[in-house]
Amino acid sequence: MNKNEIFATRVSRNVPLSQHSSYEIGGNAPYFAQPETPEELQQLLAACKERDLQPFLFGMGTNLLFPDQPGDNTLYITLKKIDQCRLSDGNRLFVGAGMPLSLLALSGYQAGIPDYEFTHLLPGTLGAGVYINAKYGEGQMNRILHTVYYLDMSEADPEVRSLPAEECGFAYKTSVFQQHPWLIVGTELAATGKDQTVFAELSDMLVRWRKWGGGSALPSFYDFIMEEVRELTKNGQSLPKRMEDIHQYRVAKKHFEFPSCGSVFKNNYDFGRPVGALVDELELKGLAYGGAVISPYHGNMILNVNHAAAADVLYLIRQVQDAVNKSYGFVPEPEVGIVST
Ligand SMILES: Cc1cc2nc3c(=O)[nH]c(=O)nc-3n(C[C@H](O)[C@H](O)[C@H](O)COP(=O)(O)OP(=O)(O)OC[C@H]3O[C@@H](n4cnc5c(N)ncnc54)[C@H](O)[C@@H]3O)c2cc1C
Repeated sequence: MNKNEIFATRVSRNVPLSQHSSYEIGGNAPYFAQPETPEELQQLLAACKERDLQPFLFGMGTNLLFPDQPGDNTLYITLKKIDQCRLSDGNRLFVGAGMPLSLLALSGYQAGIPDYEFTHLLPGTLGAGVYINAKYGEGQMNRILHTVYYLDMSEADPEVRSLPAEECGFAYKTSVFQQHPWLIVGTELAATGKDQTVFAELSDMLVRWRKWGGGSALPSFYDFIMEEVRELTKNGQSLPKRMEDIHQYRVAKKHFEFPSCGSVFKNNYDFGRPVGALVDELELKGLAYGGAVISPYHGNMILNVNHAAAADVLYLIRQVQDAVNKSYGFVPEPEVGIVST
């Protein structure tokens, strides 16, 4: 299909962004598309240029605050259907940007790869995980990558390019992809010698995930993963302790009970104490505005408890920033992407 046909068949009008956000917040996108291959994505980007539309690219919307009233000129494009995985030359595993990151932990468990455990119950897609260098404890995306494949959207006709992981500028919640209009379409994972087993498990799980309906709602994501866990452990096996600990931590912090974006702020390692602890000390936990509340369970989370608007969350973000600045002398940097188009 050419770009006009792709635009005609893949683009929908007036799609509620709240349905593509773990915050369940966001007004109607004037234009919305879910391409299924990098080629379709390239055609959509070309169609945007021709129509003077601004593309906004994202994954599962678990680290974003969409606007209450999106502008008229934006084509919102989610990559969550570009999730194909395959074995490339030398049996290295290629995984599409849209694959749910958390499936790595489960397939890694079956193949015996502890390095993937940190992705257990981590919502969101692999591509965004690379973009933000997602982490949990000591586990971090850059440690499991070999090569990242991306499109440079500043090019007139972007071709897929590649970058070795060590050249991706990875640091705490940072990558080179935040500094350029570079869109990750997939990655090759670092070789483990068990790539064929992971590939087989991931492929099967992806089929079940698609049947499940994918989606961005946290309770549904949690239910899917727990169903997979039940199946994997039905003969009496147990998950590795680290995965069990992650599960317990996330349940205790109510990660899947209320719509949220996870941690709202990056931690300031120069200051030395996590933002959540400072919010706790300032007694801001439980502060509510509109339908949003600073989580009583974790100071670095703002929950949507009652049909919150983006404006409610933004108000609380500013409250935390002002209070932390006043008492500790720095303004916490949002980790959540605040979308204004
Ligand atoms: C309950 C909960 C718990 C969480 N726990 C953790 C945690 O433990 N550790 C952690 O690191 N994060 C955590 N997060 C945040 C989130 O899960 C990660 O940041 C995840 O990687 C976001 O994936 P996504 O597909 O939803 O990204 P989105 O929210 O869709 O996008 C996030 C950003 O990435 C960009 N982006 C998305 N896809 C691409 C791509 N293919 N190429 C280039 N840029 C792209 C978007 O433009 C946007 O700026 C948590 C979130 C929630 C809701």
